[in-house]
Amino acid sequence: VPYLPADDRYETMPYRRVGESGLKLPVISLGLWHNFGDDKPLDTQRATLRRAFDLGVTHFDLANNYGPPAGAAELNFGRILAQDLAPYRDELVISSKAGWTMGPGPYQFGGSRKYLVSSLDQSLQRMGLDHVDIFYHHRPDPDTPLEETMRALDHIVRSGRALYAGISSYNAELTSRAQQIMRELGTPLLIHQPSYSLLNRWIESPGPSGTSLLGALTEAGMGSIVFSPLAQGMLTDRYLEGVPEGSRAAAEKSLNPDWLTGTTLEKVRGLHDIAAARGQSLAQMAIAWVLREQADGQVSTALVGASSPQQLEDSVGALRHLSFTPEELDAIDRLATD
Ligand code: NDP
Repeated sequence: VPYLPADDRYETMPYRRVGESGLKLPVISLGLWHNFGDDKPLDTQRATLRRAFDLGVTHFDLANNYGPPAGAAELNFGRILAQDLAPYRDELVISSKAGWTMGPGPYQFGGSRKYLVSSLDQSLQRMGLDHVDIFYHHRPDPDTPLEETMRALDHIVRSGRALYAGISSYNAELTSRAQQIMRELGTPLLIHQPSYSLLNRWIESPGPSGTSLLGALTEAGMGSIVFSPLAQGMLTDRYLEGVPEGSRAAAEKSLNPDWLTGTTLEKVRGLHDIAAARGQSLAQMAIAWVLREQADGQVSTALVGASSPQQLEDSVGALRHLSFTPEELDAIDRLATD
């Protein structure tokens, strides 16, 4: 049966303008780091992507190395895109990245022009696309001059391989320098992708120059897409009764079950109670929290993962209650800082 997207897909999702650009992103975006490799059934992947689009989630975030094996998430996404979503390509914002290790040898890691350009060409081939909407340098590389990496991003946009450029996990100082270079080149950076959650608040803390990453982004006119707002699943009801089979912690890959210690679980239980009093799941509250207005600026979109359409649906339910009272924020801070 051919896929027909929901007619009401744009009725509930808010779209926020990204920094000072003209691009808007849904406040909840879906990432394909986990759950889209060859270790997971393609049917579930397909159902999750369809559900996402039906709910107004127009942004899908990938990277060259997402799998397993590296490259598999882009291949699987490309398959599903061709089957279901290709007619809606221009309703989607698709991103990819390079920076972490993709393969052996000196040209599949880091921030060189050699790596970034060749990696994006391979990503486009795997996904069956002629361009991505956003291309990121995935992590800072101290072995490559910042100018070279930024020139490569500028070239990538000018050559039509990407519409916008972004950076991930750069600190406040490096972000400001990067944006200065990109402004001079005429291709200002659109967006930064940092980690951020109730349990991981580094983007709020001032760096050596006295500015936080959030503050630097406001100054640079850039937006932000925050990854792992659910702390990889810890800020949900997933682990309240132990480590369930099939969960990320059970797989013992990026979420170490040892992190689910007594103190963390105690925080999670307390946060779960606050969420329940707000009439929402903990996942929903954790998403609403990263999207709240704050002193140094605002996050453009929360980048979540999901291992099923049901999880994504629950997460998107955060939209029903995004605001916080000062008392709720205080109660949350008494339980959980990083
Ligand atoms: P999350 O913090 O959203 O964790 C997702 C996991 O939480 C899911 O796999 C699932 O665990 C669990 N989960 C999700 N929704 C619910 C729910 N409603 N109820 C209960 N459990 C839930 O984010 P990720 O760590 O997956 O990261 C999201 C994206 O961010 C990535 O896909 C990637 O695109 C990006 N990212 C970028 C990085 C970078 O360096 N730039 C680094 C890391 C991520 P389970 O699988 O156990 O069911």
